[in-house]
Amino acid sequence: MIILGGGISGLSFAYHYGKPCEIIEREVLGGLCASYEVEGYMLDRGVHTFFTKSQYVKDFYNNIMDGTILWRDSVAKIWLDGRYINYPIQKHAGELPGKIGIDHTRPEYIADFRDFLLNKFGYDLCRMFFFPYNEKKFQIDLSEMDYTWADYKNGTDEIHNAQMGYPKNGGFGTLIEKLSEKIKANVIIKDAINIPGDRPLVSTIPLTRLCGKYDCENLLPSDMECHPTYIYSIGIMGTPKTIFDWAYYPQEKIPFYRVSQPSNFNGTVAPQGEYLIQCESSSPERKENILNALGHVDIIKPEVSTNRLVFYNEMTLPYAYVIPKTGQEKRIAQTIGYLNDLGIYPLGRFGEWEYLDADQCILRAKELAERLKNEY
Ligand SMILES: Cc1cc2nc3c(=O)[nH]c(=O)nc-3n(C[C@H](O)[C@H](O)[C@H](O)COP(=O)(O)OP(=O)(O)OC[C@H]3O[C@@H](n4cnc5c(N)ncnc54)[C@H](O)[C@@H]3O)c2cc1C
Repeated sequence: MIILGGGISGLSFAYHYGKPCEIIEREVLGGLCASYEVEGYMLDRGVHTFFTKSQYVKDFYNNIMDGTILWRDSVAKIWLDGRYINYPIQKHAGELPGKIGIDHTRPEYIADFRDFLLNKFGYDLCRMFFFPYNEKKFQIDLSEMDYTWADYKNGTDEIHNAQMGYPKNGGFGTLIEKLSEKIKANVIIKDAINIPGDRPLVSTIPLTRLCGKYDCENLLPSDMECHPTYIYSIGIMGTPKTIFDWAYYPQEKIPFYRVSQPSNFNGTVAPQGEYLIQCESSSPERKENILNALGHVDIIKPEVSTNRLVFYNEMTLPYAYVIPKTGQEKRIAQTIGYLNDLGIYPLGRFGEWEYLDADQCILRAKELAERLKNEY
């Protein structure tokens, strides 16, 4: 069995398949779930935490990590009207600026993501948070987006990541190190586009690229879109002013849409006496803008930008979010069916072109491995 891409999907497929396989990975094992060290800071590719609704995945994480996960309730906030309110917004409406009206505008028929939000939360909460936050994050008119993925993400579900876990030591990538030790795979570092097309093949590389390799791009919808994310990691002396695990920023003028404080998760991600903050943005930003905004939203003290900043790092994730659009689902499913008939099995966030989190990738990998291990 050949696996293209060694992210969490490829590795957990190999784990559940259980037989020897070959993983062809272009960069490093782990994909979006990898962490790497720079000047004593352990950087995730955008902060990742363990969260799931599935008991199977929770047991999987605990088992792979040999019990070295710190599980606890997460502390998340939303920056609104110059202060932090508790997340999720729908459970803390009493903290909101102004009155939340009784609105009569909820659409009964849901055609897209905008309708979905309006139907679920009503106009006031959408106007304050759900519309601007999602437009800022996805950079798209929400009425062009499909909604079938949405019941589980972006504050639309109260228990989505209310409980979080993080490795007791190191970054989220510790999961990848430990998982890699538990699979029977030969890893080759190479671009999979240039290798011969042996079968059977599990592919976690972007579906658009895979179809290019097998001359079937014409089967896909013409409007497939994937957005990059830009990660800005900041190290400061001491501790930040505002303590939370992560916070959301719906405002257009603030350059990031989310800020996380991984030093809250465990003390090993930054050198002693220093503190790590990671910001996610949907567009490239200047260092000065990031630091000024962190001061403005009360995370770092104004003087940090001059004498207490000890570390700054920028990273670009070209493939971060697939954008599920209305009307695409059927053609994507047909394309995957066509590839399956050729002995090629797309898997994972970019392989299946679905907005899947790591726990959902693990469940998909398990399901596919159980199906294929009887066939091959
Ligand atoms: C900023 C951010 C924060 C997130 N936070 C969380 C979180 O807290 N918890 C959570 O559960 N999920 C989170 N997610 C989602 C999670 O990262 C993904 O669901 C998961 O990592 C997807 O795994 P994958 O293996 O399908 O894809 P990837 O991680 O992208 O792996 C695909 C692999 O294929 C390789 N590849 C691509 N092209 C080629 C090629 N041509 N040849 C060879 N190899 C190739 C890539 O290098 C990569 O290693 C987050 C995502 C982002 C962007």
